[in-house]
Amino acid sequence: RPALVWFRDDLRLADHPALAAATASGRPLVALYVLDEMSPDLRPLGGAARWWLGEALAMLGEDIARAGGELVLRRGPAREVVADLVAEAGIGAVYWNHRHLAPAAAIDNRIAEDLAATGIEHHGFPAALLHDPDAVRTKGGTPFRMFTPFHRAASAGPLRAVLPKPVRFVWAEPPRGDHLADWALAPGKPDWTGGLRATWTPGEAGAHRQLGAFLAEGFAGYATTRDRPDLPGTSRLSPFLRFGHLSPHQVVAALHRAREAGSAPPADVAAFERQLWWREFAWHLLAHFPGIERRNVQPRFDALRWRHDDAFLAAWQQGCTGYPIVDAGMRQLWQTGWMHNRVRMVSASLLVKHGLIHWNAGEAWFWDTLVDADAANNAMNWQWVAGTGADAAPYLRVFNPVLQGRRFDPDGAYIRAFVPELARLSPNAIHAPWQAEAAVLDAAGVTLGVTYPHPIIGHEVGRERALRAYAAIRD
Ligand code: FAD
Repeated sequence: RPALVWFRDDLRLADHPALAAATASGRPLVALYVLDEMSPDLRPLGGAARWWLGEALAMLGEDIARAGGELVLRRGPAREVVADLVAEAGIGAVYWNHRHLAPAAAIDNRIAEDLAATGIEHHGFPAALLHDPDAVRTKGGTPFRMFTPFHRAASAGPLRAVLPKPVRFVWAEPPRGDHLADWALAPGKPDWTGGLRATWTPGEAGAHRQLGAFLAEGFAGYATTRDRPDLPGTSRLSPFLRFGHLSPHQVVAALHRAREAGSAPPADVAAFERQLWWREFAWHLLAHFPGIERRNVQPRFDALRWRHDDAFLAAWQQGCTGYPIVDAGMRQLWQTGWMHNRVRMVSASLLVKHGLIHWNAGEAWFWDTLVDADAANNAMNWQWVAGTGADAAPYLRVFNPVLQGRRFDPDGAYIRAFVPELARLSPNAIHAPWQAEAAVLDAAGVTLGVTYPHPIIGHEVGRERALRAYAAIRD
Protein backbone atom coordinates (compact mmCIF):
# COMPACT_ATOMS: atom_id res chain seq x y z
CA ARG A 1 0.00 0.00 0.00
CA PRO A 2 1.31 3.52 -0.84
CA ALA A 3 2.95 5.93 1.55
CA LEU A 4 1.57 9.46 1.77
CA VAL A 5 4.16 12.22 2.14
CA TRP A 6 2.40 15.30 3.39
CA PHE A 7 4.37 18.47 2.57
CA ARG A 8 3.78 21.50 4.77
CA ASP A 9 6.36 24.16 5.68
CA ASP A 10 9.07 21.95 4.17
CA LEU A 11 8.73 22.53 0.44
CA ARG A 12 11.91 20.76 -0.66
CA LEU A 13 13.14 17.32 -1.69
CA ALA A 14 16.62 17.31 -0.08
CA ASP A 15 17.14 17.01 3.68
CA HIS A 16 13.48 16.11 4.06
CA PRO A 17 13.36 13.43 6.76
CA ALA A 18 9.74 12.43 6.06
CA LEU A 19 10.35 12.03 2.32
CA ALA A 20 13.61 10.17 2.93
CA ALA A 21 11.93 7.72 5.31
CA ALA A 22 8.91 7.20 3.06
CA THR A 23 11.20 6.49 0.11
CA ALA A 24 13.28 4.09 2.18
CA SER A 25 10.12 2.22 3.23
CA GLY A 26 9.90 0.84 -0.31
CA ARG A 27 6.24 1.82 -0.59
CA PRO A 28 5.16 3.74 -3.70
CA LEU A 29 4.65 7.41 -2.87
CA VAL A 30 1.81 9.89 -3.00
CA ALA A 31 2.91 13.53 -2.46
CA LEU A 32 0.34 15.88 -0.96
CA TYR A 33 -0.03 19.56 -0.08
CA VAL A 34 -3.16 20.72 1.75
CA LEU A 35 -4.31 24.34 1.70
CA ASP A 36 -6.07 24.48 5.03
CA GLU A 37 -7.93 27.75 5.49
CA MET A 38 -10.74 26.15 7.45
CA SER A 39 -9.38 24.45 10.55
CA PRO A 40 -10.02 26.63 13.58
CA ASP A 41 -7.14 28.63 15.10
CA LEU A 42 -4.92 28.40 12.02
CA ARG A 43 -3.93 31.95 11.12
CA PRO A 44 -4.46 32.65 7.41
CA LEU A 45 -1.29 33.51 5.49
CA GLY A 46 -0.71 37.17 4.71
CA GLY A 47 -0.86 38.43 1.13
CA ALA A 48 2.89 38.34 0.41
CA ALA A 49 3.29 34.85 1.88
CA ARG A 50 0.30 33.61 -0.17
CA TRP A 51 2.02 34.82 -3.31
CA TRP A 52 5.21 33.06 -2.24
CA LEU A 53 3.33 29.85 -1.48
CA GLY A 54 1.77 29.81 -4.95
CA GLU A 55 5.17 30.15 -6.63
CA ALA A 56 6.72 27.65 -4.24
CA LEU A 57 4.07 25.00 -4.89
CA ALA A 58 4.49 25.44 -8.63
CA MET A 59 8.24 24.87 -8.25
CA LEU A 60 7.81 21.87 -5.95
CA GLY A 61 5.28 20.44 -8.40
CA GLU A 62 7.85 20.80 -11.19
CA ASP A 63 10.61 19.22 -9.09
CA ILE A 64 8.35 16.27 -8.28
CA ALA A 65 7.27 15.96 -11.92
CA ARG A 66 10.93 15.85 -12.96
CA ALA A 67 11.33 12.95 -10.54
CA GLY A 68 8.41 11.19 -12.27
CA GLY A 69 5.66 11.98 -9.76
CA GLU A 70 2.87 14.46 -9.18
CA LEU A 71 2.20 16.82 -6.27
CA VAL A 72 -1.45 16.33 -5.32
CA LEU A 73 -3.13 19.57 -4.19
CA ARG A 74 -6.18 19.46 -1.99
CA ARG A 75 -8.00 22.19 -0.10
CA GLY A 76 -10.02 21.98 3.11
CA PRO A 77 -9.69 21.13 6.79
CA ALA A 78 -6.56 18.98 6.94
CA ARG A 79 -8.08 16.29 9.11
CA GLU A 80 -10.85 15.59 6.61
CA VAL A 81 -8.65 15.97 3.57
CA VAL A 82 -6.09 13.49 4.87
CA ALA A 83 -8.77 11.01 5.95
CA ASP A 84 -10.43 11.17 2.50
CA LEU A 85 -7.20 10.78 0.64
CA VAL A 86 -6.02 7.91 2.80
CA ALA A 87 -9.26 6.06 2.05
CA GLU A 88 -9.31 6.92 -1.67
CA ALA A 89 -5.71 5.96 -2.38
CA GLY A 90 -5.56 2.98 -0.01
CA ILE A 91 -2.67 4.60 1.88
CA GLY A 92 -0.79 2.32 4.27
CA ALA A 93 1.47 4.85 6.00
CA VAL A 94 1.58 8.64 6.37
CA TYR A 95 4.83 10.60 6.70
CA TRP A 96 5.27 14.22 7.73
CA ASN A 97 7.75 16.57 9.35
CA HIS A 98 6.67 18.04 12.68
CA ARG A 99 4.98 21.41 12.93
CA HIS A 100 5.65 23.39 16.09
CA LEU A 101 2.87 25.95 16.12
CA ALA A 102 0.32 24.79 18.72
CA PRO A 103 -2.85 24.78 16.55
CA ALA A 104 -1.05 22.97 13.72
CA ALA A 105 0.54 20.48 16.11
CA ALA A 106 -2.91 19.85 17.63
CA ILE A 107 -4.32 19.02 14.18
CA ASP A 108 -1.41 16.66 13.56
CA ASN A 109 -2.02 14.92 16.88
CA ARG A 110 -5.66 14.40 16.02
CA ILE A 111 -4.79 13.02 12.61
CA ALA A 112 -2.21 10.72 14.21
CA GLU A 113 -4.93 9.40 16.52
CA ASP A 114 -7.32 8.89 13.60
CA LEU A 115 -4.66 6.96 11.71
CA ALA A 116 -3.71 4.86 14.70
CA ALA A 117 -7.39 4.02 15.27
CA THR A 118 -7.67 2.69 11.72
CA GLY A 119 -4.42 0.77 11.88
CA ILE A 120 -2.52 3.03 9.47
CA GLU A 121 1.07 3.86 10.30
CA HIS A 122 2.13 7.44 10.79
CA HIS A 123 5.66 8.75 11.15
CA GLY A 124 6.59 12.29 12.23
CA PHE A 125 10.11 13.71 12.03
CA PRO A 126 11.92 16.75 13.37
CA ALA A 127 13.02 18.84 10.39
CA ALA A 128 12.47 22.60 10.63
CA LEU A 129 14.60 23.28 13.70
CA LEU A 130 18.15 22.40 14.63
CA HIS A 131 16.90 20.72 17.81
CA ASP A 132 13.53 19.58 19.01
CA PRO A 133 12.15 22.16 21.51
CA ASP A 134 11.87 19.47 24.18
CA ALA A 135 15.54 18.60 23.79
CA VAL A 136 16.85 21.99 24.94
CA ARG A 137 16.07 22.73 28.56
CA THR A 138 17.74 24.26 31.60
CA LYS A 139 19.36 21.99 34.18
CA GLY A 140 16.11 22.31 36.14
CA GLY A 141 14.18 20.92 33.16
CA THR A 142 12.38 24.18 32.31
CA PRO A 143 12.48 25.94 28.94
CA PHE A 144 15.03 28.73 28.53
CA ARG A 145 13.61 32.24 28.61
CA MET A 146 16.84 34.08 27.83
CA PHE A 147 18.74 33.88 24.58
CA THR A 148 22.32 33.76 25.87
CA PRO A 149 22.02 30.64 28.05
CA PHE A 150 19.74 29.05 25.43
CA HIS A 151 22.36 29.69 22.77
CA ARG A 152 25.13 28.28 24.94
CA ALA A 153 23.20 25.09 25.68
CA ALA A 154 21.67 24.56 22.23
CA SER A 155 24.82 25.20 20.23
CA ALA A 156 26.80 22.75 22.37
CA GLY A 157 24.79 19.74 21.20
CA PRO A 158 25.60 17.80 18.00
CA LEU A 159 23.35 18.32 14.96
CA ARG A 160 21.89 15.55 12.87
CA ALA A 161 23.49 14.87 9.49
CA VAL A 162 22.01 16.46 6.36
CA LEU A 163 20.02 13.98 4.26
CA PRO A 164 20.55 13.92 0.49
CA LYS A 165 17.66 14.11 -1.96
CA PRO A 166 16.45 10.54 -2.56
CA VAL A 167 18.04 9.14 -5.72
CA ARG A 168 15.17 6.98 -6.89
CA PHE A 169 11.46 7.55 -6.44
CA VAL A 170 8.69 5.03 -6.96
CA TRP A 171 5.30 6.70 -7.29
CA ALA A 172 1.80 5.39 -6.79
CA GLU A 173 -0.97 6.34 -9.21
CA PRO A 174 -1.72 9.91 -8.00
CA PRO A 175 -5.26 10.59 -6.79
CA ARG A 176 -6.95 13.55 -8.42
CA GLY A 177 -6.04 16.99 -7.11
CA ASP A 178 -6.89 20.67 -7.53
CA HIS A 179 -5.33 22.96 -10.12
CA LEU A 180 -2.98 25.40 -8.44
CA ALA A 181 -4.37 28.30 -10.48
CA ASP A 182 -7.83 27.68 -9.00
CA TRP A 183 -6.47 28.46 -5.54
CA ALA A 184 -5.81 32.05 -6.66
CA LEU A 185 -2.92 32.44 -4.24
CA ALA A 186 -1.60 35.47 -6.12
CA PRO A 187 -3.72 38.63 -6.07
CA GLY A 188 -5.95 39.35 -9.05
CA LYS A 189 -6.43 43.06 -9.67
CA PRO A 190 -4.65 45.15 -8.67
CA ASP A 191 -1.62 42.91 -9.03
CA TRP A 192 0.87 44.33 -6.54
CA THR A 193 3.38 41.50 -6.91
CA GLY A 194 5.69 43.07 -9.54
CA GLY A 195 8.31 44.04 -6.97
CA LEU A 196 8.13 40.61 -5.33
CA ARG A 197 8.59 38.85 -8.66
CA ALA A 198 11.54 41.08 -9.54
CA THR A 199 13.22 40.33 -6.19
CA TRP A 200 12.66 36.63 -5.50
CA THR A 201 12.74 33.16 -7.04
CA PRO A 202 10.84 30.99 -4.57
CA GLY A 203 11.61 27.27 -4.44
CA GLU A 204 14.36 24.86 -3.56
CA ALA A 205 16.60 25.68 -6.54
CA GLY A 206 16.24 29.40 -5.84
CA ALA A 207 17.19 28.80 -2.21
CA HIS A 208 20.40 27.01 -3.10
CA ARG A 209 21.30 29.66 -5.65
CA GLN A 210 20.75 32.36 -3.04
CA LEU A 211 22.84 30.53 -0.44
CA GLY A 212 25.62 29.79 -2.93
CA ALA A 213 25.76 33.36 -4.22
CA PHE A 214 25.80 34.79 -0.70
CA LEU A 215 28.61 32.52 0.43
CA ALA A 216 30.61 33.28 -2.72
CA GLU A 217 30.07 37.03 -2.87
CA GLY A 218 28.51 38.64 0.18
CA PHE A 219 29.49 36.63 3.19
CA ALA A 220 32.96 37.85 4.21
CA GLY A 221 32.49 40.65 6.71
CA TYR A 222 28.94 39.54 7.64
CA ALA A 223 29.62 40.16 11.34
CA THR A 224 29.79 43.91 10.67
CA THR A 225 27.99 44.44 7.35
CA ARG A 226 24.88 42.61 8.56
CA ASP A 227 23.79 45.86 10.19
CA ARG A 228 24.08 47.92 7.01
CA PRO A 229 20.89 48.17 4.95
CA ASP A 230 22.78 49.99 2.19
CA LEU A 231 25.03 46.98 1.52
CA PRO A 232 24.13 43.46 0.33
CA GLY A 233 25.38 42.28 3.72
CA THR A 234 22.82 39.63 4.71
CA SER A 235 21.76 36.37 3.12
CA ARG A 236 18.06 37.08 2.39
CA LEU A 237 17.45 33.43 3.14
CA SER A 238 14.57 34.17 5.51
CA PRO A 239 11.64 33.35 3.17
CA PHE A 240 13.43 30.20 2.01
CA LEU A 241 13.82 29.08 5.62
CA ARG A 242 10.25 30.11 6.38
CA PHE A 243 8.82 27.87 3.64
CA GLY A 244 11.38 25.14 4.19
CA HIS A 245 13.04 25.32 0.78
CA LEU A 246 16.17 24.97 2.86
CA SER A 247 16.61 23.50 6.31
CA PRO A 248 18.79 25.22 8.90
CA HIS A 249 20.90 22.05 8.91
CA GLN A 250 21.73 22.57 5.25
CA VAL A 251 22.68 26.18 5.90
CA VAL A 252 24.94 25.27 8.83
CA ALA A 253 26.56 22.46 6.82
CA ALA A 254 27.25 24.86 3.92
CA LEU A 255 28.74 27.43 6.32
CA HIS A 256 31.00 24.81 7.86
CA ARG A 257 32.15 23.55 4.47
CA ALA A 258 32.99 27.11 3.44
CA ARG A 259 34.84 27.70 6.71
CA GLU A 260 36.85 24.50 6.31
CA ALA A 261 37.66 25.42 2.69
CA GLY A 262 38.99 28.75 3.97
CA SER A 263 36.43 30.79 2.04
CA ALA A 264 34.29 31.87 5.04
CA PRO A 265 35.97 33.72 7.91
CA PRO A 266 35.25 31.93 11.22
CA ALA A 267 34.05 35.13 12.95
CA ASP A 268 31.46 35.66 10.22
CA VAL A 269 30.37 32.02 10.38
CA ALA A 270 29.87 32.37 14.15
CA ALA A 271 27.90 35.61 13.69
CA PHE A 272 25.67 34.01 11.07
CA GLU A 273 25.05 30.88 13.11
CA ARG A 274 24.06 33.10 16.01
CA GLN A 275 21.24 34.52 13.87
CA LEU A 276 20.06 31.01 13.06
CA TRP A 277 20.01 30.36 16.79
CA TRP A 278 17.78 33.40 17.22
CA ARG A 279 15.35 31.78 14.80
CA GLU A 280 15.65 28.60 16.78
CA PHE A 281 15.06 30.43 20.07
CA ALA A 282 11.94 32.09 18.68
CA TRP A 283 10.48 28.73 17.70
CA HIS A 284 11.37 27.08 20.99
CA LEU A 285 9.70 29.94 22.87
CA LEU A 286 6.56 29.63 20.77
CA ALA A 287 6.48 25.87 21.22
CA HIS A 288 6.80 26.20 25.00
CA PHE A 289 4.59 29.26 25.45
CA PRO A 290 1.76 28.92 22.92
CA GLY A 291 -0.17 32.11 22.25
CA ILE A 292 2.73 34.55 22.44
CA GLU A 293 2.16 35.48 18.81
CA ARG A 294 -0.55 37.76 20.23
CA ARG A 295 -0.08 37.89 24.00
CA ASN A 296 2.69 39.64 25.95
CA VAL A 297 5.21 37.16 27.28
CA GLN A 298 5.39 39.30 30.41
CA PRO A 299 1.79 39.89 31.54
CA ARG A 300 2.73 42.99 33.53
CA PHE A 301 2.85 44.84 30.20
CA ASP A 302 -0.84 44.12 29.66
CA ALA A 303 -1.48 47.24 31.74
CA LEU A 304 0.38 49.50 29.31
CA ARG A 305 -1.84 52.29 27.95
CA TRP A 306 -1.47 51.90 24.20
CA ARG A 307 -2.91 54.58 21.93
CA HIS A 308 -5.37 54.02 19.11
CA ASP A 309 -4.23 56.25 16.28
CA ASP A 310 -5.27 55.18 12.81
CA ALA A 311 -3.56 58.14 11.15
CA PHE A 312 -0.21 57.26 12.76
CA LEU A 313 -0.60 53.60 11.85
CA ALA A 314 -1.49 54.42 8.24
CA ALA A 315 1.45 56.84 7.87
CA TRP A 316 3.76 54.16 9.21
CA GLN A 317 2.35 51.46 6.92
CA GLN A 318 2.67 53.69 3.87
CA GLY A 319 6.20 54.88 4.64
CA CYS A 320 5.13 58.50 5.21
CA THR A 321 6.29 59.14 8.79
CA GLY A 322 8.76 61.86 7.87
CA TYR A 323 11.63 59.78 9.26
CA PRO A 324 13.56 58.81 6.12
CA ILE A 325 15.15 55.58 7.39
CA VAL A 326 11.77 54.31 8.60
CA ASP A 327 10.00 55.35 5.41
CA ALA A 328 12.66 53.66 3.29
CA GLY A 329 12.18 50.46 5.27
CA MET A 330 8.40 50.50 5.10
CA ARG A 331 8.53 51.10 1.35
CA GLN A 332 11.15 48.38 0.87
CA LEU A 333 8.73 46.08 2.67
CA TRP A 334 5.80 47.07 0.47
CA GLN A 335 7.78 46.83 -2.77
CA THR A 336 9.83 43.70 -2.15
CA GLY A 337 8.14 41.82 0.72
CA TRP A 338 11.30 42.06 2.81
CA MET A 339 13.01 44.62 5.02
CA HIS A 340 16.51 44.73 6.39
CA ASN A 341 16.72 43.62 10.04
CA ARG A 342 18.22 46.84 11.39
CA VAL A 343 15.47 48.86 9.73
CA ARG A 344 12.81 46.42 11.00
CA MET A 345 14.02 47.24 14.51
CA VAL A 346 14.03 51.00 13.97
CA SER A 347 10.66 51.11 12.23
CA ALA A 348 9.04 48.77 14.76
CA SER A 349 10.39 50.96 17.54
CA LEU A 350 8.88 54.08 15.94
CA LEU A 351 5.44 52.48 15.90
CA VAL A 352 5.55 50.99 19.38
CA LYS A 353 7.53 53.61 21.26
CA HIS A 354 6.99 56.96 19.49
CA GLY A 355 3.51 55.95 18.36
CA LEU A 356 2.61 53.99 21.52
CA ILE A 357 0.65 51.69 19.25
CA HIS A 358 0.30 48.06 20.34
CA TRP A 359 2.89 45.76 18.82
CA ASN A 360 0.03 43.49 17.63
CA ALA A 361 -0.83 46.10 14.98
CA GLY A 362 2.73 46.20 13.67
CA GLU A 363 3.07 42.45 13.81
CA ALA A 364 -0.13 42.07 11.79
CA TRP A 365 1.12 44.48 9.10
CA PHE A 366 4.41 42.61 8.85
CA TRP A 367 2.47 39.33 8.75
CA ASP A 368 0.54 40.57 5.73
CA THR A 369 3.42 42.14 3.82
CA LEU A 370 6.55 40.05 4.53
CA VAL A 371 7.40 37.13 2.27
CA ASP A 372 9.26 35.70 5.28
CA ALA A 373 6.31 36.26 7.68
CA ASP A 374 7.04 33.70 10.34
CA ALA A 375 4.84 33.19 13.38
CA ALA A 376 7.72 32.80 15.81
CA ASN A 377 10.33 35.20 14.43
CA ASN A 378 7.81 37.95 13.85
CA ALA A 379 6.23 37.79 17.30
CA MET A 380 9.49 37.35 19.20
CA ASN A 381 11.10 40.30 17.46
CA TRP A 382 8.08 42.55 17.91
CA GLN A 383 7.99 41.65 21.59
CA TRP A 384 11.73 42.27 21.79
CA VAL A 385 11.27 45.79 20.39
CA ALA A 386 8.25 46.45 22.61
CA GLY A 387 10.15 45.13 25.63
CA THR A 388 7.30 42.77 26.48
CA GLY A 389 9.19 39.61 25.50
CA ALA A 390 11.03 36.82 27.21
CA ASP A 391 14.51 38.24 27.09
CA ALA A 392 15.61 40.93 29.49
CA ALA A 393 15.09 43.50 26.76
CA PRO A 394 15.92 47.08 27.59
CA TYR A 395 12.33 48.23 27.30
CA LEU A 396 13.28 51.79 28.16
CA ARG A 397 15.44 52.08 25.06
CA VAL A 398 13.90 54.14 22.28
CA PHE A 399 15.78 54.07 18.99
CA ASN A 400 16.60 57.50 17.60
CA PRO A 401 15.70 57.09 13.91
CA VAL A 402 18.01 59.89 12.79
CA LEU A 403 21.08 58.55 14.59
CA GLN A 404 20.28 55.00 13.47
CA GLY A 405 20.06 56.19 9.88
CA ARG A 406 23.32 58.15 10.05
CA ARG A 407 25.13 55.23 11.62
CA PHE A 408 23.91 52.37 9.46
CA ASP A 409 23.16 54.13 6.15
CA PRO A 410 25.94 56.71 6.32
CA ASP A 411 25.68 57.96 2.73
CA GLY A 412 21.91 57.68 2.58
CA ALA A 413 22.09 55.21 -0.32
CA TYR A 414 19.38 52.99 1.18
CA ILE A 415 17.06 55.96 1.64
CA ARG A 416 17.73 57.14 -1.91
CA ALA A 417 16.80 53.70 -3.25
CA PHE A 418 13.36 53.68 -1.63
CA VAL A 419 12.47 57.35 -1.01
CA PRO A 420 13.23 58.90 -4.39
CA GLU A 421 11.79 62.29 -3.43
CA LEU A 422 14.78 62.74 -1.11
CA ALA A 423 17.36 61.37 -3.55
CA ARG A 424 19.03 64.69 -4.24
CA LEU A 425 19.74 65.51 -0.61
CA SER A 426 23.32 65.19 0.66
CA PRO A 427 24.33 62.42 3.10
CA ASN A 428 24.27 65.10 5.76
CA ALA A 429 20.74 66.35 5.12
CA ILE A 430 19.00 63.18 4.02
CA HIS A 431 18.46 61.65 7.48
CA ALA A 432 16.75 64.76 8.93
CA PRO A 433 15.49 66.98 6.11
CA TRP A 434 13.60 69.23 8.55
CA GLN A 435 16.95 70.32 9.99
CA ALA A 436 18.36 71.30 6.59
CA GLU A 437 18.61 74.92 5.40
CA ALA A 438 15.76 76.05 3.15
CA ALA A 439 18.21 76.59 0.29
CA VAL A 440 19.47 73.01 0.60
CA LEU A 441 15.93 71.67 0.42
CA ASP A 442 15.09 73.96 -2.51
CA ALA A 443 18.11 72.83 -4.45
CA ALA A 444 17.12 69.20 -3.91
CA GLY A 445 13.50 69.82 -4.91
CA VAL A 446 12.18 68.97 -1.44
CA THR A 447 9.26 70.92 0.04
CA LEU A 448 8.44 69.62 3.47
CA GLY A 449 4.77 69.00 3.99
CA VAL A 450 4.30 68.86 0.20
CA THR A 451 6.80 66.52 -1.46
CA TYR A 452 7.79 64.79 1.79
CA PRO A 453 6.12 64.90 5.23
CA HIS A 454 7.30 66.60 8.39
CA PRO A 455 8.21 64.08 11.14
CA ILE A 456 5.01 62.59 12.50
CA ILE A 457 6.19 63.31 16.03
CA GLY A 458 9.38 64.89 17.37
CA HIS A 459 11.89 62.34 18.57
CA GLU A 460 12.20 63.79 22.06
CA VAL A 461 8.44 64.27 22.46
CA GLY A 462 7.76 60.69 21.38
CA ARG A 463 10.56 59.30 23.47
CA GLU A 464 9.38 61.04 26.62
CA ARG A 465 5.78 60.00 26.12
CA ALA A 466 6.91 56.38 25.70
CA LEU A 467 9.09 56.52 28.80
CA ARG A 468 6.19 57.93 30.82
CA ALA A 469 3.85 55.17 29.63
CA TYR A 470 6.36 52.43 30.40
CA ALA A 471 7.27 54.01 33.75
CA ALA A 472 3.58 54.04 34.71
CA ILE A 473 3.33 50.28 34.51
CA ARG A 474 6.68 49.75 36.19
CA ASP A 475 5.37 51.61 39.21
P1 FAD B 1 20.47 37.05 7.83
O1 FAD B 1 21.15 38.14 8.59
O2 FAD B 1 21.16 36.56 6.62
O3 FAD B 1 20.22 35.88 8.88
C1 FAD B 1 20.12 34.50 8.51
C2 FAD B 1 18.86 33.90 9.05
O4 FAD B 1 18.85 33.95 10.48
C3 FAD B 1 17.60 34.62 8.62
O5 FAD B 1 17.19 34.22 7.34
C4 FAD B 1 16.62 34.23 9.72
O6 FAD B 1 16.07 32.95 9.49
C5 FAD B 1 17.53 34.17 10.94
N1 FAD B 1 17.47 35.45 11.66
C6 FAD B 1 18.21 36.55 11.43
N2 FAD B 1 17.90 37.52 12.32
C7 FAD B 1 16.93 37.01 13.12
C8 FAD B 1 16.20 37.53 14.22
N3 FAD B 1 16.39 38.76 14.69
N4 FAD B 1 15.26 36.73 14.78
C9 FAD B 1 15.04 35.48 14.33
N5 FAD B 1 15.72 34.93 13.29
C10 FAD B 1 16.65 35.69 12.69
N6 FAD B 1 12.39 37.14 10.53
C11 FAD B 1 11.66 36.24 9.86
O7 FAD B 1 12.20 35.27 9.34
N7 FAD B 1 10.29 36.38 9.78
C12 FAD B 1 9.63 37.42 10.37
O8 FAD B 1 8.40 37.49 10.28
C13 FAD B 1 10.41 38.41 11.05
N8 FAD B 1 9.81 39.49 11.61
C14 FAD B 1 10.59 40.42 12.26
C15 FAD B 1 9.97 41.53 12.85
C16 FAD B 1 10.73 42.50 13.51
C17 FAD B 1 10.05 43.68 14.17
C18 FAD B 1 12.13 42.36 13.54
C19 FAD B 1 12.97 43.40 14.25
C20 FAD B 1 12.75 41.27 12.98
C21 FAD B 1 11.99 40.28 12.33
N9 FAD B 1 12.60 39.15 11.76
C22 FAD B 1 11.82 38.22 11.12
C23 FAD B 1 14.03 38.87 11.96
C24 FAD B 1 14.99 39.39 10.90
O9 FAD B 1 14.74 40.74 10.62
C25 FAD B 1 14.95 38.59 9.61
O10 FAD B 1 15.05 37.21 9.87
C26 FAD B 1 16.10 38.99 8.70
O11 FAD B 1 16.06 40.35 8.40
C27 FAD B 1 16.04 38.18 7.43
O12 FAD B 1 17.00 38.58 6.52
P2 FAD B 1 18.21 37.64 6.14
O13 FAD B 1 17.71 36.30 5.77
O14 FAD B 1 19.02 38.39 5.11
O15 FAD B 1 19.00 37.56 7.51
